[in-house]
Amino acid sequence: MSSFDVVVIGSGPGGYISAIRCAQLGFNTAIIEKYAALGGTCLNVGCIPSKALLSSSHHLEEMAHFAEHGIEIPGDVKINIEKMIARKQEVVDQTVAGVKYLMGKNKITVFEGVGSFESATVLQVTKADGTVEKIEAKNTIIATGSKPSSLPFITLDKERIITSTEALKLKEVPKHLIVIGGGVIGLELGQVYLRLGAQVSVVEFADRVLPGMDATLSKELTKVLKKQGMKFYVSHKVQAVKRAGDVVTVEAENKKGEIITLEGDYALVSVGRRPYTDGLNADKAGVKLTDRGQVEVNDHLQTSVPNIYAIGDVVRGAMLAHKAEEEGVMVAELIAGQKPHIDYNLIPGVVYTWPEVSAVGKTEEQLKEAGVAYKMGSFPFKALGRARASGDLDGLVKVLADATTDEVLGIHIIGARAADLIAEAVTAMEFRASAEDISRMSHAHPTFAEALKEAALAATDNRALNI
Ligand code: FAD
Repeated sequence: MSSFDVVVIGSGPGGYISAIRCAQLGFNTAIIEKYAALGGTCLNVGCIPSKALLSSSHHLEEMAHFAEHGIEIPGDVKINIEKMIARKQEVVDQTVAGVKYLMGKNKITVFEGVGSFESATVLQVTKADGTVEKIEAKNTIIATGSKPSSLPFITLDKERIITSTEALKLKEVPKHLIVIGGGVIGLELGQVYLRLGAQVSVVEFADRVLPGMDATLSKELTKVLKKQGMKFYVSHKVQAVKRAGDVVTVEAENKKGEIITLEGDYALVSVGRRPYTDGLNADKAGVKLTDRGQVEVNDHLQTSVPNIYAIGDVVRGAMLAHKAEEEGVMVAELIAGQKPHIDYNLIPGVVYTWPEVSAVGKTEEQLKEAGVAYKMGSFPFKALGRARASGDLDGLVKVLADATTDEVLGIHIIGARAADLIAEAVTAMEFRASAEDISRMSHAHPTFAEALKEAALAATDNRALNI
């Protein structure tokens, strides 16, 4: 039986990054992945393919503005969805190959098969042909991730009633895509098909889309997406999803108790994801799960068994690739006896629609609920020279700072390149900057980042300059 200092189960961004950090720290490391392709949800059916399709379809959206930039295209523009999906797959394959290379480079042993516990120190790898290999692990890191969840009354046929996984490889542009759940994944994939010409209706149970983010961002994004043609049914509780041939009907109850019926050709069920521990035999090692099915961990990401850790989507907290990565690094360093720390308040959240949406820290709603005295400054993109030059006028930056100390408590951005702009906000908050600190830093002109400086000025003393 081969023996390792650390065995990681699952090769998503949590698992593979953790394995690399373990190897860097000198541990004899192995990783078990049940699929032939490494990289987990994020690389195969999550972050990377969705961003590839968002980028492809964004080119099309930009074309709508070509004429105002003085660019004329002779003839009609045609969409080749097969080619678009094939390009997405090429991007995925290259990224996945990169992870395989990194495993080799770091001398990490890769086992292909389902990993399960025989005991707290012995793992089994069940391969596709049914053979079982046993390996010994001084420490194990569970990084088994998550799977799309659904509603109890929905039968996912994966043809017309689909999850994000199928939505990333459709063979045709839907005529009418009904998106159940107005969270990040539903809005991103909804916008892909909206751009490609589908009618898109979003049905959301809460009274706004992106219910976890600052309400200003939800409001602004809804406004822009409506302008682009997306339809919203918020405060609607989906009650039934049925398929007859190529027709899918979704019945939802509104606030007045009335049932509305939407008819489309595809329904995308994007109501969240569930932690995935199927086949892991966690109980054989004594690893406890929470009543929500997550692996229970303490502040050191240690499970109920001291030499077994868990990270990423399978434990509490935001289901985000970069959160999983931070946890992967943290666990490796903890095993090495170091004292790493993650500030979960500073894990940014991003929606890759266009305009992009990003946030870090507390929302205004959270500050109100906690009774924190705060001040707010905001600045619209339309007052930015850079935004006018490119024509990306939608959006704003909102800075929330402590009313007394001026420490930045939250930054919320919607607009062009918000996904990249949030890095400045995270840096500032990591170093506990005040709004005035940000406002006194030189920001290159003309850039979208100037909106952050102006919003910080507005929060400091209501003294934004360019408005
Ligand atoms: P996963 O990536 O889910 O990886 C778990 C791995 O474990 C899988 O490969 C699985 O096959 C393997 N596994 C499970 N059980 C076993 C077992 N018993 N034995 C062996 N292997 C096993 N996050 C972002 O931060 N940014 C984004 O833009 C973003 N976009 C997304 C878009 C979509 C459509 C989706 C679905 C998700 C997106 N996410 C995004 C979320 C992100 O993909 C996850 O947060 C991230 O993948 C979690 O990483 P993980 O390592 O915890 O688990």
